[in-house]
Amino acid sequence: MQHIQIEHWVNGRREESASKESFTSINPSNKQALAIFPMATAADVDKAVAAARVAYVGWSQTPVCERVKILERFADGIEKNAERLGLLESQDVGKLLGECVNHDIKRASHNIRFFAQQMLTHTDEVYFSDEAFLNQPLKTMSVARRCPVGVAALIVPWNSPLMLATWKIGPCLATGNTCIIKPSPWASLTILELGPIAKEAGLPDGVLNVLTGGAECGSALVSHKGVDRVSFTGSVTTGRAVNIANSQSRMAPISLELGGKSPAVVFADCDFERAVTGVARGIFRSQGQSCVAGSRLIVEKSIEKRFLEALVAKVKAMKIGSAQDPTSEIGPLVTEQHFKHVEGMVERAKKEGCHLLCGGKEAAGAGYFYEPTIFAGVPTTSEVWREEVFGPVLATQSFSTLAEATALANDSCYGLSASIWTTNYANAHTLAHNIESGLAWINSHFVRDLRAPFGGVKESGIGQEGGRYSLEFYTQVKMTCHTH
Ligand code: NAD
Repeated sequence: MQHIQIEHWVNGRREESASKESFTSINPSNKQALAIFPMATAADVDKAVAAARVAYVGWSQTPVCERVKILERFADGIEKNAERLGLLESQDVGKLLGECVNHDIKRASHNIRFFAQQMLTHTDEVYFSDEAFLNQPLKTMSVARRCPVGVAALIVPWNSPLMLATWKIGPCLATGNTCIIKPSPWASLTILELGPIAKEAGLPDGVLNVLTGGAECGSALVSHKGVDRVSFTGSVTTGRAVNIANSQSRMAPISLELGGKSPAVVFADCDFERAVTGVARGIFRSQGQSCVAGSRLIVEKSIEKRFLEALVAKVKAMKIGSAQDPTSEIGPLVTEQHFKHVEGMVERAKKEGCHLLCGGKEAAGAGYFYEPTIFAGVPTTSEVWREEVFGPVLATQSFSTLAEATALANDSCYGLSASIWTTNYANAHTLAHNIESGLAWINSHFVRDLRAPFGGVKESGIGQEGGRYSLEFYTQVKMTCHTH
């Protein structure tokens, strides 16, 4: 296959990089080279921020209805290109093709449309009062208006590139801001495609800019004085560095969506089949490369043996293969580097004496395939219990009382999500309330209403995105007081 060679997208056109460094993306299903693109430097960041600042003047003044029309056409454009973008994303990151086309790309389009439409129903606040000024009584009308803020730096990880990118781009542009988006070098291709689609929809040049690159580009972006908002999704380690760089330069309001080690708590009174299938999907969807993966199973002792047997049987029946083969249920890990990271964590868990129920090794095939792996009765001091693997690895423990289940679920520095499997709604809601996480699902996983908040607590992040939470993040409130 011929490599795709692609440049940054700045100011409405492909822009050559100041950088001599490039990155070759590999299709993880077959280890063949797919594309080459540049690793941006601070000079590229300066150029993109300058373009975004100029574009901000016009875009922030564009009437809301006009902005909404353009963004809806942008959403239509993504939808029209769903097959092509889905294939590209599947080849780039190894996500199952069907999942890319039918879920991620559709959500990408919906993210843009959803936030655009939110602007049509957005209302500012008005307060009427009787006050006094210079001893004269006055009628006052105080208007609290949400205004755009300027230029946003949007940094995303590799696991769901287009879905996560549009989750930020949608509210950022809908509220009248401009942005520079920086994908992960492991997943830049589909985000680079957004530029021409947005241009065709009528988005003015410079409103949406894409720079490909790694830490050098990312850190130049988050410490740039021309940037007014930083929205970052990625690991806790990088999130910490981003927070420091941002606060040392000019303290832009920041949103951090970070990693997780989410518990799936299964009670004896659960709908058994639904829970087995749900827990398997919760951890093994996208090969465990999901921030909300349910990577710690906490199951009630009385059903532990039966539940684990059923889970292992389900997992062993899953077909591992190329992400572009529609019959595959488990695709490859994203890169060789990530494969080695997952393999290393599994080997250390084995050495620690964790009880391996299934998997634990490379799977056959031409790509970076790894068998879905389950360790039972994992000590809570073990690395595989405490640290995010971000791969197809489940660590299990058991409980006898609700208090024990809660303590095990909260035994983590992370607090992104949780799933609870029971038919007892009193227990479900008590646990959901007491679990230290930003979100908790009862008898489901991954389900999202875009109006609802999404974000982690503890080391899983700062702030919430979604619905009005995103619109608030990308705006600043201005009070204007009218008197008569
Ligand atoms: P990462 O932290 O390595 O990289 C994330 C992004 O930051 C990439 O674009 C990377 O190039 C960039 N980056 C690297 N160094 C930087 C620096 N010094 N300054 C600024 N940017 C820098 O994460 P990853 O491996 O790409 O993604 C996996 C992680 O993301 C996991 O921990 C996962 O849980 C998390 N994640 C969280 C969510 C969420 O919504 N909470 C969603 C998806 C993934």
